Amino acid sequence: MTSQHRNYINGAFVSSAGAAMIPVRNPATGAVLSEVPDTSADQVDAAIGAAKAAQRGWEALPAIERAGYLRRIAAEIRSNAPALARAIVEEQGKIMSLAEVEVGFTADYLDYMAEWARRIEGEIVTSDRPNETIFLFRQAIGVVGGILPWNFPFFLIARKLAPALVTGNTIVIKPSEETPNNAAMFMDLLSGVGLPAGVVNMVYGCGASTGRALCENPDVGMLSFTGSVETGSRIMEAAARNITKVNLELGGKAPAIVCADADLELAANAITASRVINSGQVCNCAERVYVERAVADEFVDRLTRKMAGSTFGNPLEDRSVDYGPMINKAGSDKVAGLVDRATAAGAEVMTGGEVADLGAGNYFQPTVLAGVAHDSEIMQKEVFGPVLPVNVIEDLDQGIARANDSDYGLTSSIYTRDIGAAMRACRDIKFGETYINRENFEAMQGYHAGVRKSGIGGADGKHGLYEYTQTHMVYLQA
Ligand code: NAD
Repeated sequence: MTSQHRNYINGAFVSSAGAAMIPVRNPATGAVLSEVPDTSADQVDAAIGAAKAAQRGWEALPAIERAGYLRRIAAEIRSNAPALARAIVEEQGKIMSLAEVEVGFTADYLDYMAEWARRIEGEIVTSDRPNETIFLFRQAIGVVGGILPWNFPFFLIARKLAPALVTGNTIVIKPSEETPNNAAMFMDLLSGVGLPAGVVNMVYGCGASTGRALCENPDVGMLSFTGSVETGSRIMEAAARNITKVNLELGGKAPAIVCADADLELAANAITASRVINSGQVCNCAERVYVERAVADEFVDRLTRKMAGSTFGNPLEDRSVDYGPMINKAGSDKVAGLVDRATAAGAEVMTGGEVADLGAGNYFQPTVLAGVAHDSEIMQKEVFGPVLPVNVIEDLDQGIARANDSDYGLTSSIYTRDIGAAMRACRDIKFGETYINRENFEAMQGYHAGVRKSGIGGADGKHGLYEYTQTHMVYLQA
């Protein structure tokens, strides 16, 4: 019988009588791995109620004690790393080495956020009045609702849970309906570390039902969401009714600018790595290339050879492949549609360009498109697949202007040996992140945040931690 995962509410695994069940599939084979409930609004409300009831007691604990639970979860994750990595590969389709990085990074992230316990600081501000002291406290917001995508499903649990808990919030998490198995394993491990009931709750289900119920409940103080721009917009609408704070990590359309003086081999390697990782299904992946005319032919040639050399297949059968299947058919259909319309509009296929038939699973060939107009659909819309459209620029100024001319503003990259050009890019590229002479992959002590439609607020580091706090000013006459 197919295994069924149960919600985790108020410290116990609970069944969801009468709920429709959602099948969870291996994207490489189509095989059903498990089922999860499409949780009703009533049960979502019960989880939020449990989180609310637990919050005051949790916040009253010294932060260092709260951090101790995070460290225990991290230790459990390290002890179970191989099984966790396998579960991620099985339901999400990424390759094993990347799943292993995801699991290790998740444990490290929990430990990193635990280290902030002794570093959450307020301020004392000078008053205009005699005998008065003004204090700024940083306090918990209350109940956080965490809504997750499927592409780094295990890490995203920690990215929301760890800063929320160490600052004294409690949380209700809804994983993606595509990838709940690793989340269920996370909760199995978490249930053994002795956390007070209600501090962490998990509800499974679809966005329009379970996710929406989480967004509409007035007892949620902050919605921390990672996913698409379209869903982010819906979440903001639902949050608007209760004036709920939102933290939105949305899509990207990362430009990579290759200057004429760049190390072209380094640039081709880094851009290829940033494009095929997780089959191109990463928010900060290189999505469009702007290369200076003087080196355009040579660079496109190098990039085409690297991309064409990227291998793909079922990651559980062949551990040597560079990437696995796309998450589902809708994902590969979307990529195919964008590529077909680009070629119909005159783009030249340098390599790839098609869905690959491996018998089962939805794979897209590693693809380079040359001669793509900057204002074309494929340079403007998030592809989320292993496809690189290339546009030729006359100089750096034009590259920066085209990079900025986008609805998205998450990550960006520039390849140059000229420190002056690099500094100009730092000043003038209007993105949340810029990588200079390296692949796109953020650090946990940085701040991952997008501008324009890529989001509101951010995650990681000190600034990401403080997103989960609110300030409380106190004026003391004494
Ligand atoms: P998605 O927006 O389709 O779904 C994300 C989550 O939102 C899922 O759990 C889904 O069930 C839920 N949801 C859907 N509709 C909802 C609603 N009306 N109310 C509440 N919840 C709802 O995104 P996805 O396909 O899972 O992930 C891919 C997208 O995520 C890409 O656009 C990618 O760029 C983005 N992403 C961004 C970051 C970042 O850090 N900025 C990281 C990873 C992924």
